[in-house]
Amino acid sequence: MRRNRKVKILATLGPSSSDEDQISRLHVAGADVFRINMSHTNHDKLRELVTNIRAVETRHGRPIGILADLQGPKLRLGTFANGPQMLTIGQRFSLTNERVDGDATAVHLPHPEILEALRPGHRLLIDDGKLRLRVISCDGQVAVTEVEIGGKVSDRKGVSLPDTILATGALTDKDHADLLAALDADVDWIALSFVQRPEDVADVRKVVRGKCGIMSKIEKPQAVERLDEIMELSDAIMVARGDLGVEMPLEAVPGIQKRITRACRKAGKPVVVATQMLESMIQSPVPTRAEVSDVATAVFEGADAVMLSAESAAGAYPVEAVTTMSRVAEEVEKNEYFLSILNAQRPEPQQTGADVISSAARQIAETLGLAAIVCFTSSGATGIRASRERPNTPIIALSPNRAMARRLAVVWGLHCVVSDDARNLDDLVDRSCRIAYQEGFGRPGQRVIITAGVPFGTPGATNLIRIAFIGADGLGGI
Ligand code: PGA
Ligand code: MN
Repeated sequence: MRRNRKVKILATLGPSSSDEDQISRLHVAGADVFRINMSHTNHDKLRELVTNIRAVETRHGRPIGILADLQGPKLRLGTFANGPQMLTIGQRFSLTNERVDGDATAVHLPHPEILEALRPGHRLLIDDGKLRLRVISCDGQVAVTEVEIGGKVSDRKGVSLPDTILATGALTDKDHADLLAALDADVDWIALSFVQRPEDVADVRKVVRGKCGIMSKIEKPQAVERLDEIMELSDAIMVARGDLGVEMPLEAVPGIQKRITRACRKAGKPVVVATQMLESMIQSPVPTRAEVSDVATAVFEGADAVMLSAESAAGAYPVEAVTTMSRVAEEVEKNEYFLSILNAQRPEPQQTGADVISSAARQIAETLGLAAIVCFTSSGATGIRASRERPNTPIIALSPNRAMARRLAVVWGLHCVVSDDARNLDDLVDRSCRIAYQEGFGRPGQRVIITAGVPFGTPGATNLIRIAFIGADGLGGI
């Protein structure tokens, strides 16, 4: 089963999409990677979902990526004695370390690290930014704030801190336990929520130790500020527009999305655009025009993947949402402006064998109208560099490493196939042509371009480029 698009689709699993048949339907409809949200998934459920996804993978014979998304430090208020309270503009409201029952003047804040880090002038956003408080004074135990945007507060509402850097590490205790369970279940990616600094990613690297890819979610202004350093230490990036839109002015989000997608393309880091892409499809079988346009914008920009959250996890139309996303992507990629936009953004190759060969392969493939670029990649690195070129020609990424083929499922334009390393040059050509034919990318008599590294079987140096004809009946090549 080959896709007729380059951009990938991530679908979040949940109550609307947990059993094997439903996951299979989502995969057939277009989902390339499944996201498991650890905020709502216990370890038994995690293992069950992974088992179901792997069964779907076996059923369809295509590598599928699995992303476990860690909750991160989600901060919440304490509780109120007499139900929801109204806060009015200009009034004082205190947040305290003491376990008081909340009222209209104060509430317990069960996060001492926040009270320690708050400084006068810092903002606290409550309930997805519906209310705004500004700190007037803070002694480490009690923060006195002025209400800048009033409204109703109630038990355990979320708190966002756009101005405050917290002394907490990257992982809460829950995240740590969830991460170990996810590694144990053999997921391909983990996503880190509320990354604040590059050190957060570096710390998690020490736990993950290459067992899966690390995707950093950019959802705090502090992370936007240090994007380059965070990108450098991450294997992929997510533009997490949900919380980003709470912590930054909403109107800033589109520009930040563009900046992050372009920076990622330049660096050769896969980038996912997430949240509310087809939000209305949670309840409706058809999206709004604005949502279609939003998905199209991400595809035009050359994002590696677009993501569904509640649309596929908890909505009434999960399959329709995936189908819609796929159709929008296919249409954009056929549009006359698509290639010119991608080409205008093409970064220069870096001075490495993998880069100059990926660049040359793209030029040759496009100039000669070849059927496919076949790219041997065991570490995955060359596959990502080939994708960074954003060629018009399909890319087939061959890896002897099943885990790597799954991980690369999130990368723009890569059709991943698990295949042994070539034994020699004849085998390289035969294997490439046979797979291009079998996977539906080329007919006998058409040509492919192959990139690989010799000596065969030693990961690292991509140093070979070869044009080959697909032989009669698709058997081997010349
Ligand atoms: P979440 O992350 O759904 O885990 O909050 C995505 C986002 O914030 O956009
Ligand atoms: Mn988030």
